[in-house]
This record gives sequence, structure tokens and C-alpha cells, in this order.
Amino acid sequence: MTDIPLLRVERVSKAFGGNQVLREVSLDVRAGQVQCVIGPSGSGKSTLLRCVNRLEVPDSGHVYLEGEPIGYRWKGESLYELTPSQLAVQRRRMGMVFQNFHLFPHRRVIENVTEGPVVVGGMDRAAAREQAMALLSKVGLAEKADAFPESLSGGQQQRVAIARSLAMRPALMLFDEPTSALDPELVGDVLDVMKDLANEGMTMVVVTHEMGFARDVSDHVVFMDGGCVVESGTPEQIFGAPEHERTRSFLSRVI
Ligand code: ADP
Ligand code: MG
Repeated sequence: MTDIPLLRVERVSKAFGGNQVLREVSLDVRAGQVQCVIGPSGSGKSTLLRCVNRLEVPDSGHVYLEGEPIGYRWKGESLYELTPSQLAVQRRRMGMVFQNFHLFPHRRVIENVTEGPVVVGGMDRAAAREQAMALLSKVGLAEKADAFPESLSGGQQQRVAIARSLAMRPALMLFDEPTSALDPELVGDVLDVMKDLANEGMTMVVVTHEMGFARDVSDHVVFMDGGCVVESGTPEQIFGAPEHERTRSFLSRVI
């Protein structure tokens, strides 16, 4: 049982119309691992993350979280599709952080972080506030608890978005280019928060163009191109001795 990866993506394929965006993509993420997914724009990285938490339904293949198929349940030997509310419960075990934060604009920072646990998770409001303040401290924004998102910088908004995801106590965090929309001077604070999370043992899949982060923080790097995993390995392998020409040419363009 201990060999079950926290996340298993098994031969997932996805097309939009005639556009084959993912081609039998597989990957395993063990508990506590940080995997970075890199690759050119359009290679299917976002679609892969969206298939993991079933914002997109794969055409074929499966995703398993702690051995449980996402979107399905076993009944005897057969798989049955989950109802939307069952899927919502399953999805809560995965936090997702997007490029553009997606905070609730009309809610104060603290409300952004308490809303999910209270409304969806049934947490007591006082406990949710206490947890939210602890999480805001962790991301360095306790003093912004009563501010509205629009008064914050992009980097601060993204750190609130991370705190909001963590408030649901996910088993896995998915990041889709969390620093791509930020001014360069704001990137570091967000990456530092992600580094802290990694050091605390959070399991993370991070789509990123930050090659320094991928090299220094990740345990495993996945290079995608054209909807395929071209190669994957340790950061030392991928950055130090890439085997494939496509990996080499991508890295030579971005580093
Ligand atoms: P990446 O994140 O690596 O840039 P994406 O997964 O966003 O790549 O997109 C891969 C391809 O899938 C692109 O050609 C994109 O236009 C297409 N695509 C993504 N989402 C959709 C969608 N909802 N409908 C149609 N095409 C899509
Ligand atoms: Mg993308």
C-alpha cells in the first residue's frame, strides 16, 4: 500500500475538436514530492492540471488521488461516475492556484480565506478565522486581513489565493503558472511562499516558467511538448543532461 503514489495520472488523453492536446500523459507524484511541469506554450500543461482536478474530463485515461479514481467510484468491479456534489467533495482534496488569482473581489482578504471552510467545509466561523489568520501570517499578509483584493499588489493577491487554497487542507496543491501574471519584482515573494510549502512537505504539481524554482525546489521535472511528456527526471537530469533534442532546444530558449 505504501507504494501507492499520492497522485497518479495514467495515460490521459484529451482533444478539443480536432486538436489533440494531451496524448497518453502519465505521471506519478509521491506524497511530499514537488513536481514541476515545464514546456512551451500550448503544450498542454494547463489542460493536464485541469484534467487532474476534472475541470476538464479526459477523453481516456484516469487520474487517481491516493488510489481513488477522480470522478468515479468503485462499486464491486465497476466504475461509476460521481455526481457533481460527490465530485466537489473529491475535488476539495486538491487546491488549485491560477495565474490570475481568482479571488472574490467583493470580499475582504480574510473572508476569501474563511469562506470555503465555513460554507463548503462546515467549519465553525471562529475556528475558520483563527485558521485564516494563521495562514495569512504564513504568507506574510496578516496585516492585510481586512483589505479588499483590489488594494493589494498581484503578488499579495496570489499569496492570499494560496492561503485560501490551503484553508481547505488539501492533500495536493496544483499551481498553474502562479507567477506569470506578476511584475518581476513581485515574483520572489510568491516563490518563497511556495518554497516554504515545499519544505513543509506539501505535495505540489507546479506548472512554471521559473526555471530557477524548478531546478532548486522540485524533486522531479516533467518536460511536455505537443501534448506528450517528452522526458522527465530529476532537475539534475533535465537541466544538466537532457536526453532529447526538444528538451535541449526548449531549455536553450528559456534559460
Ligand atoms: P499550455 O498550458 O501548455 O500553454 P494549454 O493546455 O492551455 O497549454 O493548451 C493546449 C492547447 O489546447 C492549445 O492549443 C489551446 O488552444 C487548446 N485548448 C485549451 N483549452 C481549450 C478549450 N477549452 N477549448 C479548446 N481548445 C483548448
Ligand atoms: Mg497554460
